[in-house]
Amino acid sequence: MLVQYPDTWVDSKDLQKDVAEKIFYLSRQLEAYEFTEEGLLLTLCGSIVDEVQLIADVQDLMTKLAAAFKHCSHEILESGSHVASNTVGPDEVLDESRQIYMSSPGVPIFTGDFLKVKTAIDNYIRDYALEFGCEEHLYPTTVPSKSLINSGYLGSFPQHALLVGTVHHDLESLRAIAKEPEAYHDVSKIDDLVSNHAQVLAPTVCGHCFELLAGQKIEKTQALYTATAHCHRHEGNNHSGFERLQTYTMREIIFFGSAAFVKESQEKILKDVKAMFEQWGLQWRIAVASDPFFATGNEQKKAFQTLFRLKYELQVYLPQKDQWIASASFNHHQDSLVKPYKVTGQDNELNSGCFGIGLERITYAMFSQMGVDLENWDSTVREQLVL
Ligand SMILES: [Zn+2]
Repeated sequence: MLVQYPDTWVDSKDLQKDVAEKIFYLSRQLEAYEFTEEGLLLTLCGSIVDEVQLIADVQDLMTKLAAAFKHCSHEILESGSHVASNTVGPDEVLDESRQIYMSSPGVPIFTGDFLKVKTAIDNYIRDYALEFGCEEHLYPTTVPSKSLINSGYLGSFPQHALLVGTVHHDLESLRAIAKEPEAYHDVSKIDDLVSNHAQVLAPTVCGHCFELLAGQKIEKTQALYTATAHCHRHEGNNHSGFERLQTYTMREIIFFGSAAFVKESQEKILKDVKAMFEQWGLQWRIAVASDPFFATGNEQKKAFQTLFRLKYELQVYLPQKDQWIASASFNHHQDSLVKPYKVTGQDNELNSGCFGIGLERITYAMFSQMGVDLENWDSTVREQLVL
């Protein structure tokens, strides 16, 4: 099925990426897409219930994203001095040695050197965070669904939510599954027996922190916290290697204080992490970023984020794929989260911000840029990470 580009379409890889991130949310029958000169070529499975409607939906998505794209800068602020020259990709070795094993699409199990490096990076950033004045927290796997409704996350990213269900606590449902569990190999049959989605798999690390501080007054003029936790994001058919995992690990630093303090912390951490990547010999760059909001009306929010530089992204290069992936973000939330969570400070203008580093993505980039054999890595990075 070929969908014509709208008149406002811009021929840009970044805009194509924006569309690719959301296209699978439109229909479960979408199997693949390709941007051709004539239009967007879609491959579908099964017979389409309403083809005219799907074409209209795809065109509507492209029109909205093209409009948002024009209002956002895609500015690269700075690039590091190193150029990654490793030509052999790590995928084959990581896969064959089972250092990375996907138990479900986008849900990895880690072993061996990959795990060793991932843990070492987390320890390194943890030490940095503690020195920066953070108090450490340990967070669970889920957050209350209500929390995501209040914070606006569910409204902005409904497609990402992974709600946790439980089997109905009634004898009929429990007996049905206990009596003949094999009958539920077709897992879709379980849907009828499950409900009570009061919890959701946490999509961010800082969400837990806001949950902890909800309704509280921060007595100090500034407060900093750090934690590592699993984050979860439903991506539909979108899982593609380390670009889009369903379950991944983030180390975050979360900071509260005046707007100026939050900005200062955001800039300071950015500066320090840049220096870290430079020392490790990584090829990196900094971009002004905006979140890929999906629901209607959020295009404005995206343009606003870009305009005020509320979000920076540190990207790393994958030489074999000729591709940049975001590995860390530096966010100024203003009062958009303290307000719904009713967190207050000394005066009335409490703001918050966070820094998050995706441990799988940075580890993967290191293997891509430096190879799979840790012995061949530069001695500086090996010493710093104690490898
Ligand atoms: Zn965060």
